[in-house]
Amino acid sequence: MNMQKLAQRLNRISESNTLKMAKLSRELAATGVDVISLSLGEPDFQTPQHIKDAAKKALDDGYTFYTPVVGFLDLREAISAKFKRDNGLDYSPNQIVVSTGAKQSIINTFLAILNPGDEVIVPTPYWVSYSEMIKIAEGVPVLVNANVESDYKINAAQLEKAITSKSKAFIFSSPCNPTGSVYSKDELYALAKVFEKHPEIFILSDEIYEHINFTGKHESIAQFDFIKDRVITINGVSKSFAMTGWRIGYIGATKEIAAACEKIQGQFTSGTNSIAQKAAIAALSGDMTPTKEMAKAFLRRRDLVLDLLKNIPGIKTNTPGGAFYVFPDVSYYFGKSDGKIKIKNAEDLCMYFLNTAHVALVDGDSFGAPECIRISYATSDEKLKEAMKRIKVALEKLV
Ligand code: PMP
Ligand code: GLU
Repeated sequence: MNMQKLAQRLNRISESNTLKMAKLSRELAATGVDVISLSLGEPDFQTPQHIKDAAKKALDDGYTFYTPVVGFLDLREAISAKFKRDNGLDYSPNQIVVSTGAKQSIINTFLAILNPGDEVIVPTPYWVSYSEMIKIAEGVPVLVNANVESDYKINAAQLEKAITSKSKAFIFSSPCNPTGSVYSKDELYALAKVFEKHPEIFILSDEIYEHINFTGKHESIAQFDFIKDRVITINGVSKSFAMTGWRIGYIGATKEIAAACEKIQGQFTSGTNSIAQKAAIAALSGDMTPTKEMAKAFLRRRDLVLDLLKNIPGIKTNTPGGAFYVFPDVSYYFGKSDGKIKIKNAEDLCMYFLNTAHVALVDGDSFGAPECIRISYATSDEKLKEAMKRIKVALEKLV
């Protein structure tokens, strides 16, 4: 179809690069090539059995009908109890909205709070979809740079400087996709004190990697009472319970924001999948041993990847405190060539890895850090060792 016939909106946003690289790697694999995909951020583990059993029971019990737009009450009660137990946060069930993945929770919120031209402050590196969702909601992303030297975290002074009369919201993830950085309680407090001076700013706190945290206790920015009524705490079951395909995300917020998200969601997707909701109750109220085991495996793999990266010259990285990504600065290789292909940027490097080493990664451009690449280590130790070997050999050819 001719592009002119489609909406101009499409020209303002880019395709999700994480999903694009995952697609390219699947397509290459379908031609018989042995591709190792470290592109998509999804646990390689199966959903724990007790959660699958709850889904089977839900089906047998006849949960096959439309659900309330905001989610079943028993699920919202389980989420309310989870917020209290894990985060010390009080959100009653009518302050909770369940959506089709945290992805929808985020876009619901942006659509509910942004007017055209409103600015949203986004520390870089950021998860690919934040900037594009802001644009879909006709807001303007305002990027604040953090680099490997600051462990990819921003400080209060940087935040203060980014605030203008048009600032409407701030969004960040901790643990962070793509850097794995984890904000400490003190660091969050320092940011919260800045927000205290700017009561018009909403704070979207994406905590989807909460349970994949190697630094100790997870800290939520909503714990600071003086800003809590402007915080939208976003979470979901995709990462913590290996449930990416089930599509359950949720927010805790004020009743007003929850009602606004309900209104929007009611015209978009309605309540999310009934069976997945029942399974999510089992996830959130059940045994956390499988989650802890997965987090242990991710820590081991992080150390494995960091160790193997040390043997590759020119790679700069932080030590990720959580999530399952390493986000090295690879700009040392820009301008080099294997004699055939000249590597101008991280995108060229990722395509070079895919086509010559058969390893799929994602370039840092779409995370707001064009000097970096993202390695998702949510795969087996064997595959990681093989992938890192291939990457090393491919980089050695670049002069
Ligand atoms: N936030 C972050 C930081 C993510 O990495 C993801 C990954 N998909 C999401 C939100 C959305 O997760 P989901 O829609 O699967 O709940
Ligand atoms: N959040 C994951 C990632 O960053 C899944 C893909 C996506 O939804 O973008 O790879």
